[in-house]
Amino acid sequence: MEKEIIDLRSDTVTLPTEEMLEAIKHAKLGDDVFGEDPTVNELESLAAQKMGKDAALLVTSGTQANLVSLVSNTKRGDGVILEAESHVFYYEVGGLSAIGGLVPITIKGNMGVLDPKDIEAAIRPKDIHFPETTVVAIENTHNRAGGTITTPDQIRAISEVAKARGLKLYMDGARIFNAAVALKTDVKNFTKHVDNMMFCLSKGLSCPVGSIVVGDHQFVERARRVRKMLGGGMRQAGIIAAPGIIALEKMVDRLEEDHRNARLLAEGLAKVNGIKVDMRIVQTNIVKFDVSDLGVTSGTFVFMLSKRGVLSLPFSERDIRMVTHRGIEKEHIEKALAVIEDIAYDVRSKKVN
Ligand SMILES: *Cc1c(COP(=O)(O)O)cnc(C)c1O
Repeated sequence: MEKEIIDLRSDTVTLPTEEMLEAIKHAKLGDDVFGEDPTVNELESLAAQKMGKDAALLVTSGTQANLVSLVSNTKRGDGVILEAESHVFYYEVGGLSAIGGLVPITIKGNMGVLDPKDIEAAIRPKDIHFPETTVVAIENTHNRAGGTITTPDQIRAISEVAKARGLKLYMDGARIFNAAVALKTDVKNFTKHVDNMMFCLSKGLSCPVGSIVVGDHQFVERARRVRKMLGGGMRQAGIIAAPGIIALEKMVDRLEEDHRNARLLAEGLAKVNGIKVDMRIVQTNIVKFDVSDLGVTSGTFVFMLSKRGVLSLPFSERDIRMVTHRGIEKEHIEKALAVIEDIAYDVRSKKVN
């Protein structure tokens, strides 16, 4: 019997649609380092318009987007305020310091959301001893917090502190469209309070490659130079941009389906003896749950699930992350839940250890 793999590790595993592959085949191409790839130019102007900013830049990945943006907002030696479990701080190989020469100033958020008062307190006064703090970076949705949303009102409050103290506000909006769809509001309501931001094409939007940085003309011009410096100048990048255009035009609304499936998964998990789910953080397409009461580590549980065809990632010693995405249907969630229940039962009755 063929075993179907249910891959809940990440929304980055989504494959391009047939329409995307067709678009790649027929894309008009040119040398983008000379600014001559018409498909890249079209994507960048569409992205700028959708996000309500002057200009946009296609980059290779979310990690490159964050590095290019932080470097473009600062000078070496500056301090950057960011959430203690933010992707930039946690998962980007220390690039902001190693390459950007920046000093991370971390603040613990509440379910991934920074408190403006904490930001205020973290901004050091001008003094010969201190690095100059020049940027606040928020993450929306917040990955390690479980896909949580910083609402437009919360962003506005943060932006007021940043503005009053002369700091730039940057948003790692890798999954910003998930936030917009979840709150049923235009993405511009999130972007209008930040100076610049990035989002990923390669996650729920299902593109094979790419992220987009947006901001004002001066910032994007600088970002284009920094991208080149980092080796991110791409030639006939229209083959990446073509699916990006489809993503922005057609793949946003369907994220709602992923959110419905995430909720279904979380509700099912919450009913399993020994598994804990904080339903407050189940806001978009990420589900984080705690298996410590089963007396196993997340790593062990993830391994047992994988042997039964359900793939997930350990998030910490006790927490596991599952992410819903295109290709995961309601019936996959039901199957995954049945496997999880089974394994939890076996672990509880010490049939496995
Ligand atoms: C995925 C992700 C990134 C990085 O994207 P890559 O394309 O994997 O480099 C950055 N920030 C957040 C919040 C993410 O979830």
